[in-house]
Amino acid sequence: MANKMQARCVIVGGGPAGMMAGYLLARACVPVIVLEKHADFFRDFRGDTIHPSTLELMHELGLLDEFLKQPHQELRELRAVVNGQPVPVADFTKLPTRCKFIAFMPQWDFLNFLSSHAKRFQTFQLYMETEVVDLLIEDSRVVGVRAKTPRGELEVHADLVISADGRHSIVHTRGGFKQCEFGVPIDVLWMRISKKQGDPKQTLGFFQHGKLLVLLDRDDYWQCGFVIPKGGFDEIKARGLPEFQNELVSFADFLRDRVAELDDWSKIKLLTVQINRLCDWCREGLLCIGDSAHAMSPAGGVGINLAIQDAVATANLLAEKLRSGPVSVDDLRKVQTRREWPTRLIQGMQVFIHRRVVTGRASGRKNSLPFVVRLLKWFPVLRQLPARFIGLGPRPEHFRSPTVT
Ligand SMILES: Cc1cc2nc3c(=O)[nH]c(=O)nc-3n(C[C@H](O)[C@H](O)[C@H](O)COP(=O)(O)OP(=O)(O)OC[C@H]3O[C@@H](n4cnc5c(N)ncnc54)[C@H](O)[C@@H]3O)c2cc1C
Repeated sequence: MANKMQARCVIVGGGPAGMMAGYLLARACVPVIVLEKHADFFRDFRGDTIHPSTLELMHELGLLDEFLKQPHQELRELRAVVNGQPVPVADFTKLPTRCKFIAFMPQWDFLNFLSSHAKRFQTFQLYMETEVVDLLIEDSRVVGVRAKTPRGELEVHADLVISADGRHSIVHTRGGFKQCEFGVPIDVLWMRISKKQGDPKQTLGFFQHGKLLVLLDRDDYWQCGFVIPKGGFDEIKARGLPEFQNELVSFADFLRDRVAELDDWSKIKLLTVQINRLCDWCREGLLCIGDSAHAMSPAGGVGINLAIQDAVATANLLAEKLRSGPVSVDDLRKVQTRREWPTRLIQGMQVFIHRRVVTGRASGRKNSLPFVVRLLKWFPVLRQLPARFIGLGPRPEHFRSPTVT
């Protein structure tokens, strides 16, 4: 016999979308249960970026000062090295927000911070090591989820199920949603290389003739993301490790004395990049948000921000009604209506970046700079556009859901 629990809302997935939605709904006095399949938030393949719009939200929630006490790095200007030439890409210092920077913080610290604050509300419960395996459906309305836990099977019944279980969502699969897939021509190789004194101070992107190496500063090591053509990993492996190491050095020469740390292919993980979007984000009793509704590429590092914005819109539009009872599918559709066009715009931009910049169709002559990049170099004011797009995103959300203490 499965254990049974009841809540007004059950959220599947404790990533950025699920934890933020859980925090905001609990804060608005909606009894909410978040189910996360892992035992902790400590996983490697996660973005590290907390954008100015998310920091603004932390301010609106009264959490910013405490949040910024967590170890983090602040990136005020985004610079790249394009075909060997340093290029300023985005200037965040002119943004109309309290924090004029992107904070780099391991995502597990961000999620631990949010969950520790959410647990202060009596209406919030988080169950780790609880993997949702199916939906409970009655008369074609979703009424809850079935999960497996180390203590046996669990059924959680709720007026609303929120699917925030990421790009490989079991919930949207079981929910029977149709999805449009946008071909992505790239994958990413993900690996660590140690940092040394004298290394460049900031996170860097190295573009070279249509190829890209990103180095994320994680204090004592560089988290490296190397963009490769989709399906190209086997060919890279066949060429051998020394050639791969040399290729990395050709992007960032300062790695030469330690690239040999990558002495086994097991230290290099393949991350498959997808961009897709559900046609409908909801049905009776079920709403999909974050990557579950729209898987994002790492291009621009905006997926976390978008997932959080979805969560804020969900709480703003649904919390009041949910407090007193079920919400209709028309209510749920309002979340999609609000969040779909920012998603379309960002995904459109990601597809463009993959096709024109990363895969090299726009790379032009050897050592030349693409025209758009040259414009950014010549006219500093233009760097505010990518800063707005990356830092705030289209239609930034503000916290409006009621707080009940
Ligand atoms: C290589 C790579 C690098 C990226 N880098 C960045 C970056 O730097 N900045 C950025 O903004 N975005 C980045 N992104 C995109 C970003 O990671 C996602 O857009 C973002 O994490 C989406 O958040 P989410 O909460 O919707 O989903 P997720 O972060 O995927 O969270 C889903 C959660 O649900 C849990 N879960 C899954 N299935 C179940 C289940 N059945 N039951 C219970 N729990 C479940 C998972 O364990 C996870 O905790 C990157 C993406 C990739 C592929």
